[in-house]
Amino acid sequence: MRLGARYGSMSTHSTCELSSCPMAIFPIRTFGDPVLRTKAKEIDTIDSGIRRLADDMIETMYDAPGVGLAAPQIGISKQLVVFDIGDGPKVLINPELLETSGGWIFDEGCLSVPGRFWEIERPAFARARGLDEHGREVEYAGEELLGRVLQHEIDHLNGTLLIERLDRRTRKEVLRELREEALGLGL
Ligand code: ZN
Repeated sequence: MRLGARYGSMSTHSTCELSSCPMAIFPIRTFGDPVLRTKAKEIDTIDSGIRRLADDMIETMYDAPGVGLAAPQIGISKQLVVFDIGDGPKVLINPELLETSGGWIFDEGCLSVPGRFWEIERPAFARARGLDEHGREVEYAGEELLGRVLQHEIDHLNGTLLIERLDRRTRKEVLRELREEALGLGL
């Protein structure tokens, strides 16, 4: 997930936070790539390969810069997300959204729909449970930015982009614009 300009960048980490170095920065898949519409597979074994993937995703997220990144955004259809809302990088594997409540409008963007931001209303509070990079159960719960990132990134694992969270009329307009842009680029 990406923050609107008025929030500035909170991604200040750029060193090795988790395990192996040096890390790699992946190209980010954008709207139109079928991997973004595909439900990601659960991860059975959390091994060094998964830890390496998480490290690379964190590096890619900081480089973008973004506050959250899901594995399908780098073309890997696995249930792994990383995020950092300003208190260090977090890894969440096979997450489950347990609870949401309230409502909050936020200027939301997505690294896979570059340069676009929309005031999107979603529940303010979210609680999610999953595993960390060592296979330990972790739970994150919070309002506003944390709640938003959890919902946005878990949406990615279900093949849902933020465009689908827009109201019907705006969504139709946006989809038309994005398709026209893609045609203009000859894609
Ligand atoms: Zn996104």
